[in-house]
This record gives sequence, structure tokens and C-alpha cells, in this order.
Amino acid sequence: MIQNENKQNNPQNNPPRRSFSPSHNRSGSFGYNRQGHNNPNQRAYPAQQTTNQQSEQRRRSAPFHADSLAFNNRPSTVTQTIPQQTHIATNRPPFRDDRNHVVSRPHISTATKSQLKNRKMSPKMRPGGSSPKGKKGPDVIPPLKDGDIRIIPLGGSEEIGKNMIAVEYKNDIIVIDAGMQFKTEETPGIDYILPNTKYLEERRGKIRGLVITHGHLDHIGGIPYVIERLGNPPIYTREFGALLIKKRQSEFPHLPELNIKISGPHDEFLPITPDLKIKFFGLTHSIPDSTGVIISTPHGDIINTGDVRVENDNGIVADKEFEQYALFKDRKILLLTMDSTGVEKPGWTISEKIVIKTIDKIVSEVTGRIVIATFASQVERIIAFIDMAKRYGKKIVIEGRSMKNNVEILKHLNLADTSHIVNVEDMLDYPPHKMMILSTGAQGEEFAALMRMANNSHKFIKLNKTDTIILSSSVIPGNERAITGLKDNLYRHDAHIITYYDTDVHAGGHGKREELSWIHKQIPYKFFMPVHGHHYMLKMHAELANSLGTPRENIIVPDNGSIVEISNNGEKITVLKEKAPSDMVMVDGFSIGGIQEVVIRDRQMLAQDGMFVIIASINTTTGKLKKSPDIISRGFVYLRESQELLKDARHIIKRTVENASAGMNPIDFDYIKDLVTDEIGKYLFQHTAKRPMVIPVIIGV
Ligand SMILES: [Zn+2]
Ligand SMILES: [Zn+2]
Repeated sequence: MIQNENKQNNPQNNPPRRSFSPSHNRSGSFGYNRQGHNNPNQRAYPAQQTTNQQSEQRRRSAPFHADSLAFNNRPSTVTQTIPQQTHIATNRPPFRDDRNHVVSRPHISTATKSQLKNRKMSPKMRPGGSSPKGKKGPDVIPPLKDGDIRIIPLGGSEEIGKNMIAVEYKNDIIVIDAGMQFKTEETPGIDYILPNTKYLEERRGKIRGLVITHGHLDHIGGIPYVIERLGNPPIYTREFGALLIKKRQSEFPHLPELNIKISGPHDEFLPITPDLKIKFFGLTHSIPDSTGVIISTPHGDIINTGDVRVENDNGIVADKEFEQYALFKDRKILLLTMDSTGVEKPGWTISEKIVIKTIDKIVSEVTGRIVIATFASQVERIIAFIDMAKRYGKKIVIEGRSMKNNVEILKHLNLADTSHIVNVEDMLDYPPHKMMILSTGAQGEEFAALMRMANNSHKFIKLNKTDTIILSSSVIPGNERAITGLKDNLYRHDAHIITYYDTDVHAGGHGKREELSWIHKQIPYKFFMPVHGHHYMLKMHAELANSLGTPRENIIVPDNGSIVEISNNGEKITVLKEKAPSDMVMVDGFSIGGIQEVVIRDRQMLAQDGMFVIIASINTTTGKLKKSPDIISRGFVYLRESQELLKDARHIIKRTVENASAGMNPIDFDYIKDLVTDEIGKYLFQHTAKRPMVIPVIIGV
């Protein structure tokens, strides 16, 4: 659940954007020398806007096809014809506008080629989608043979996040989890990444249920986006998960109500179809009602652990863990699929009891105010903190929206006495040593409560040297820099800061290697498939299973979209050479999936070198420019201090346009635009070593 814990705040801090605002709104100024300033006299440019809106519309209305993310490899320019003889070109690769028609120009500019070459792209962002080999076209997936079981990890097998596994038997499919992942550095501006559900959408009529292991966002966060695509199947979950699912769904009021079926802790196997039954089994993680799932088939059980750790005291496993896994002793288990997140860490996680004890001791000794920052997803620990404050006669302030949401749910379920929670506005009514602040933001998230306290922008909480701040969290890889910034800011207040480097104030929710080994020994399975982790984690987990006695041929290390089949009455496991679609599906404002890789690439280009827009009007009779062309740029160079560059650029534009259009009748705008893009691209690179996105707008008058 690392990604999830990491940024649990984000969805709440950044709710889905309510309207689409075209990025060119900010760049609407037709004056020059205004880089970085909002010009009150900005002129809108209707023709350009129309085009962008139209193309945006086309992209949005394009049918959802994983394949539609594919690019033509050939770099070229995109050309869109727009009314009034106004033309726009950008030096980006063509996108497939629909499945039959590639919008492209035969003219290839050198600037464009090298520009593309210089862009870094991850394997997932490469043309051709998620396949590292750049595989083209959809696979024709053979039908499932009667009596065979198909298991497809659709997400969570190449990353931590967006977990989803489909289990198919005869005419039925049960889906386990529908998670999401937060944006990565490779997907600037994207809100979330979802599992690719195309395989399921094409078999929507077979889906009998969505089974949720627990309420973390990497397991439930995708529900509002995918549930309709799956045909609104019933959702099976324990109570805590159900509340979090409903809470999240309430942020999408336009969606129909979910059909949630809550399973109790003592429920027996629930028949979903004549052949398939499901049962949840309780296990230890970091949120109440964490479960694993058993799907019972005529050939044996398919088990998914969900996220899991093992409560232990220095490697001595707690009795309740033995009880939780006792039910597997006499079952026929075909396949175990299991959390791999913690596999590279040797040993055992420290007991959550020790974490609580350590923090309890600190809380009992401090003489000033105490601030505890942890992941909102560490719900069980939050319950302990609320109890702790009660015991020491302290009032509690809850800071951070995700933390508040989860505390609301705790209150609703009566999991904690919350009578001593006070509003932050009333905090000054109590002496500092009677205050505990529970806050989000221990990962240095920009807008989270702790960061606001640290950088003095919190409206009510001002830190001082009598405060004690506990960071009850680990450093999640990738957040190092943000956390360094957070700590710098915290230390400026000279407060007393305690982290897990100092003492046991945090334990992770995912079992380390010895815990995973212990679980392997409790579940007598035939086949093993590690999930929930990056590829290297899955490989390490496979090695672990092998070292514990599972033959290599019984272990499958999947990718997202791998189609795993158990055949011969449960005797044989294979992976088909065909794959279910697994290209990234992104949520970007209101749009989901579709042709967004081109948008992402533009964002990457713009982020690196900015943009350079040229507006020129040609007299269509004489082929001469009406006046000196206008130039706008953003994120490129400071134009006010680049007068020479501008002067030369205008000169080159004028020369290029007029040389080309001389004697041309009618004027070929596309051709002229490409020439201008090339010439200006070359010139700017020679003089600045930057390759901004050059956008010529040429208007015939
Ligand atoms: Zn997880
Ligand atoms: Zn989790």
C-alpha cells in the first residue's frame, strides 16, 4: 500500500477537476515580452481555441481502446485544419486520431526528430503501449476452455498500486480489487492511473462480482472510474472497506449507487455462482477489516492475500495469526497469489504493539504540545493514538482531510471514543501540554497539514521549541527530497523531532521476508503467483517460494495483463502468449483513458523547454507578411532580455514565409508552417541550446 499511504491526501486535496481549462488560456497573449506575466490586455484567439477544443473533443469521444494509445513511430508534425485559413502546427509526433486515420504530415523536420530522440520515455510510455517490446495491435485471446481456470492480474504486478485480479471459470468472472495509482514523474498532470479493464469490458456479461480485500486506495480507489465499465456488479467487502468505498463514491454524485454486499467476520463460503464461492479470511495489515480472499472452484481454491503482515514479537508469531490461517490446513489450494511489497527487507517487521508502546512512553513524558504525523491509511494506529490521548487527559486535533475522513468512519463504527476531539480553532482554549495534534503529511506532501505547519502557512497551528513532533512513518522511496525539505522546515522551529531513525515509532503494513515465509508455510498450495509489487519484488518473492520448496514450474511471475491458465483438472499452470490489454489508463480531469500519451508527451516537452508561438498573417494575394510576426513564449527564455533573439527570429520567419510563398498560388499553409517550425527550431537551438515546442499560427488575409 506504499503509494497509497504515500499520497493518501492527494485525492482529497486535489478533488477531480470540475472543468476542463485548456492550457492555452494562459498563453493567450499576443503581445511579446510578456513572458511570465499575466497580461490584462490578453486577447483571446478564437480560431486556435476552437481547434484545440475540437481536437480535445475528438480525443475524448474516441472509443476506449487500449490500442488507441499506439503511436506511429515516425516523427512528424501534427496538422489540424481549422476554419478561416488559420493553421497551427506543433512539432510533436502524430497521434492516431481514430483507428483508421493517422493525422500526420509527410514533411519531417530535423529539429523534430532530434527533439523526440532527446525525450526520455519509460517503457510504458513508449509507442505501442505497455509492452516493453513495443508490441503492436491487440492480441486475439483464445476462448477459455471449459473446465480451465483463467487468472489475470490486470494491475499491481508491475507497480505498487492499481491492484486488480480477474478470476474466470466457464461463463463467470470474479474480480478482486479495483485500485488506483497516483501519478508518477512520467505522467505529469495526471490525476490517477487505473488498471486496464478492457479485457473485462469485453466480457462484461460474465462478471458476477467485485471482491474487495481492504479499504486502501490502491485496492478501492479505481471503483468510481471502473464500476460502470464492469457493468455495475455487486461489490463484496467487509464493513470498514464498505464505508471507505461509499465515502469515496460520494465524491462522484453523478454515479449510480453501488450495490455493496457486506460480509461479516464469521460468514461461511458465499456461493456467487453454482461453481464459484467466495470467503474472506481475516489477516493483519494496517487498516481494520483487512482480509484475504478465497475463491473456491471445482478444482480447488484460488487465494489472494491482499496486503499482509504478521504480528510478531521479535519473530515469535502471535497466537491470533495461527488462528487466522488455521482454516487452510484441510483445504485443497490450487493457487496462492500474495503481496510482495516487503520481500526485499530481511527479517520481521517490528510489532505494531511496540510502536504504540514507544509512542505511549513519549506522550507520557512530554511537557509541551505533541504533534504526531502518520499516514491516514494507518487506521489501526490512529485508533491507538486517540485512546492514548484520552488516557493522558489530552484533547486531540485532527488535521488533514483524509485523516478527518477516516476518523469520521471510526466514530461511525464506534471503534474509538472520540469525545475528546476538538476543533483546531478552539485549540488555544487548552494548555499546550493538554494537546495532541494528529496530522497527515509525514511524507512532505506539499499541501498536507504538517507541511503547512512546518512552513508557517497553517492558519491556527504555529510550531515552537516546546513542541514534540513524532513522524510515525517511514521514508517512502521517491519522497526523500520532499521529506528533507519538510524536516528542514520543522527544524527551523527548534521543536523536538522524533523519527523512526531514533526509535521504534513506525512499522510498515507489509510483511518482511520472514513474515512472508511464515505465511507460505501456513498455506499448503500447489501453484504460486506473487503480485502486489514491482517486477523485481515479484521475482524475489518467486525465489523465496522456490527456496521454501515450490518447484519452479509451479511458480508464475506475471506482468499486468498476463493470462494465466490452470488446466488438466488443476494439474497444470501456463501463461498464454497472448496478453490482456495492459496499457496505462489515466484519469486526467474528467477524461479517462483515450489518446492521452500524446498529451503526456507534450507536457514532458513543455516542462523541459517550454513553448514558442509564432503568429503571422500573410496577404494571400501577394504572399507577403502583413506585419512583423507576433511571438509568445512560455517557459523558454525571458523574452524581455532576449531582444536580439526575437529580432532575428522575426527576420527568419519573414524570410522563410515570403521566400516560400512567392509565386505560390494557392498558398500551401501546411508547407509554410513546417518550414517555419524547422527554421525557427534550428535557430533557437543554435542560440539557446533549448528545443521549445514551436507552434506557428499562420493566418491568410
Ligand atoms: Zn495494497
Ligand atoms: Zn493496504
